[in-house]
Amino acid sequence: MSATQSLEVELPRDSSGFIRRQCPSCQRIFKTRPSRFDARALHRRLVTLFPFENPHEGYESVPAWTCFYCGHQADADEWLVREHVAYLESLARGLANHVRYEQLAHVSRTLGQNPRPTFVAVAPEALPEGMPDEPEDLRPIHLVCCSDEVKALWDWDGPFYCPRCGAHHGGLSGRQQVHLEFIQE
Ligand SMILES: [Zn+2]
Ligand SMILES: [Zn+2]
Repeated sequence: MSATQSLEVELPRDSSGFIRRQCPSCQRIFKTRPSRFDARALHRRLVTLFPFENPHEGYESVPAWTCFYCGHQADADEWLVREHVAYLESLARGLANHVRYEQLAHVSRTLGQNPRPTFVAVAPEALPEGMPDEPEDLRPIHLVCCSDEVKALWDWDGPFYCPRCGAHHGGLSGRQQVHLEFIQE
């Protein structure tokens, strides 16, 4: 029997609890609060990188989110920023090495009586540590449609979309500005 290792992967949050997202279409950055679908989105993405898992397990459905800036819609697992994807890739490589090591180690264990094993398993590198820390940045904006906050680029003053419900809002001026001052109290 082999020991089972469990591994927790979580998207990093900034000090006010927001998670960085990147639009797969316009590549712009914004932040939203954690979603209950984040874990499933991470799992779906990891499974595409890690061929040892049962593929259908990774394909539980996730909702579509909308880009704050351009209104592009895509499944929740497509909004990872480059740093998140890079981490998942190194994790998948590390896991693949572990699996290969376990397989090789098993073969060399069962070949224990063989005076001339054809290969020797070498311990893989340690798995990568967690994702990088998330800095506190971007501009908080209140969304009246979902009564929620997002964070967006400071210089964005055009119309925008609610990432969660897709509602289209006018530019960041007038009433929206008043709202901003209100939530900053
Ligand atoms: Zn976009
Ligand atoms: Zn909304």
